[in-house]
Amino acid sequence: MHARASSLRPPLAALALLGLAAAAGAADRTVLAIGAHAGDAEVTTGALLARHKRLGDRVVMLHLTLGEGGNPKMSPAAYGDQKKREALVAARVLGAEALFGPWKDGELRDTEDAARYVADVIRQVKPTHVVTHWKSSLHPDHEAAHRIVNAAVLLASLEGYVSAHPRHRGLRGVYYADNWEDADGFTPYLYVDVTEDLAAWKAAATAYEFIRGGISSFPYLEYYEALARVRGAVAGKRFAVALEVDPFAKKRVLDSLP
Ligand SMILES: [Zn+2]
Repeated sequence: MHARASSLRPPLAALALLGLAAAAGAADRTVLAIGAHAGDAEVTTGALLARHKRLGDRVVMLHLTLGEGGNPKMSPAAYGDQKKREALVAARVLGAEALFGPWKDGELRDTEDAARYVADVIRQVKPTHVVTHWKSSLHPDHEAAHRIVNAAVLLASLEGYVSAHPRHRGLRGVYYADNWEDADGFTPYLYVDVTEDLAAWKAAATAYEFIRGGISSFPYLEYYEALARVRGAVAGKRFAVALEVDPFAKKRVLDSLP
């Protein structure tokens, strides 16, 4: 696979360029959103990310691929350049930091190298919360991202896994985004009120041409705004973002009934 060599290298240069070291530790929470393609994190959970930024938290997005294969009218190289520019604009609007993985659209695979790469990002970013893809998807890159991230979360926490960075044990939870492509078996569990953050979400998401419309026939903007209203209605809010968690994370242990 083309990415094997580069995936072994921790993304030190990228992190340094983006000034991540200086930003580390400033906020109470650090939310790391990991998407298979640039745009996945913003369109599904951009409102949540905007909310946490507004609350004073640090927000980082890792785009494993640019999703550069999605425009039939452009070469992957040209569209990849466009997607990267769009991702940087979206991150700026959200007040987030953007990182880019080395993989190509459609070629993301659940490999040990990929898990090590993401584990090193986790060890450097030190997230309290990770948001990524649900386990079942019609897109193989999304399913691979789910498995890579879960393997990476474990690796990043292990004393025995030696890399250039010390282990990270501050992760409080892994959450799965409400993505139309990842709907199989997805049951909303956690609802977060994003009523005040929908405008920021729209401003960030529309940095991407594919979300504005004109590339894909899927009405991204309308779908996710309507979804936020539907999730909000169920949650008793105007707009909400819903997240799923692993079955074991639903266990609650109390001294009495709540
Ligand atoms: Zn995607």
